[in-house]
Amino acid sequence: MREAIRRVLIVGAGHSGGAHALALRELGFVGSITLVGHEAHAPYERPSLSKGILQGEERPLPLAEPWRWAEAFDLRLSTLATAIDRVAREVTLCDGRRLPYDALVLATGGRPRSLSVPCAAAVHRLSTLDEARELRGRMVGARSVIVIGGGVIGLEVAASLRAAGLSTTVLEAGPRLLGRNVPPDAAEWIAALHAQEGVAIRTGVAIRAVEGDEGGVTVRLEGGEVLEADLAVLGIGILPRTELAEAAGLPCRDGVLVDAGYASIDDPHVFAIGDVASREGVGRQETWFHAGGSARAAARALLGLPPEPADVPWFWSDQFGRTLRVAGAPMTADTVVPRGAAFSLHLRYGRIVGAAGLDSPRDFAIARRLIAAEARLDAGRAAEPGTDLRKAVAA
Ligand code: NAP
Repeated sequence: MREAIRRVLIVGAGHSGGAHALALRELGFVGSITLVGHEAHAPYERPSLSKGILQGEERPLPLAEPWRWAEAFDLRLSTLATAIDRVAREVTLCDGRRLPYDALVLATGGRPRSLSVPCAAAVHRLSTLDEARELRGRMVGARSVIVIGGGVIGLEVAASLRAAGLSTTVLEAGPRLLGRNVPPDAAEWIAALHAQEGVAIRTGVAIRAVEGDEGGVTVRLEGGEVLEADLAVLGIGILPRTELAEAAGLPCRDGVLVDAGYASIDDPHVFAIGDVASREGVGRQETWFHAGGSARAAARALLGLPPEPADVPWFWSDQFGRTLRVAGAPMTADTVVPRGAAFSLHLRYGRIVGAAGLDSPRDFAIARRLIAAEARLDAGRAAEPGTDLRKAVAA
């Protein structure tokens, strides 16, 4: 954008929206920054929703202290944006007010997917702090839980509730756990960990209906089997919240389509960041790393600053006191090099493109640097856990 920007309006006050506001101030922006958020809480980080909050922590990590929001931003919580007028450059709120903008940043994230079959309202979801607190309240006195979905949410919730003593069953539709974003070998380490801790994992399961109420749930499977539990939690992925953008005519395809600086491909005054952004040639990324990284990248682009060098994407998942880390694009590899029992390097045409490991922070940090350098690896040396990974770079 060439013209001066005085007013930035951010729709969505989650991790990405909050990080964007903070990044603009850190980069020296002195104009007004308004953040509109549907939740009642100031921006916070979400990783603890499926872990710490269920284990008794009172609150998640805030992105900034409350006084900071009051001092440097116009933060409007419990407020929904209902329409974008791109010609007038205004956003309408649920109370009918209209907010003008010079730059609009959509950080609307995603909403949890629903089952395509009948599903009782008593089934818990876990995308907000209020939902996590509600589940924690219902855990008191519960003895069993059925978790639907064997992705990151499902498995972290299963680990948290199992550790709290509940009999725990995970139902996954796909042929294996973590099929969307974790390579098969790493998914097997996690499956073994859950089995060892007493979680019943079932894959290839088709659900016909979920019935019940606060007193308990019944899950009916195709084939006639019936499962019962005190609680059920649904974690079968998210859908990007694009309806505002779509209604405003912004190009969307599984997210708001944006360029490398997170500007809409059709409107330089509109940006999209976090889970709702779909970058050309890259697609959507649903991680903590991308929520913050896209927020900072968009802030630089909005202010006309040059981009920073791209970092290798990664994510982690904490389950039963172990930490799984995955970096790069391991699912695109043609060769997997195991390095000990629970670490692997993922190569494509001999170059490292991904890494996954359970509790191996040092090897993981080195592997990320090697991925960034697109290093060619000597697979034989890389497979020896006693050899420094840096010495496995092929000449
Ligand atoms: P997810 O990672 O996409 O996993 C959803 C899982 O549910 C997939 O394995 C999927 O199988 C399965 N599934 C889909 N339909 C099903 C059905 N009808 N019955 C049973 N299983 C079904 O999504 P998520 O775990 O819900 O997580 C939601 C969001 O939170 C994601 O953005 C995620 O990245 C984020 N999150 C991240 C972390 C972390 O990074 N540590 C932790 C928690 C949440 P198919 O693949 O076969 O469809």
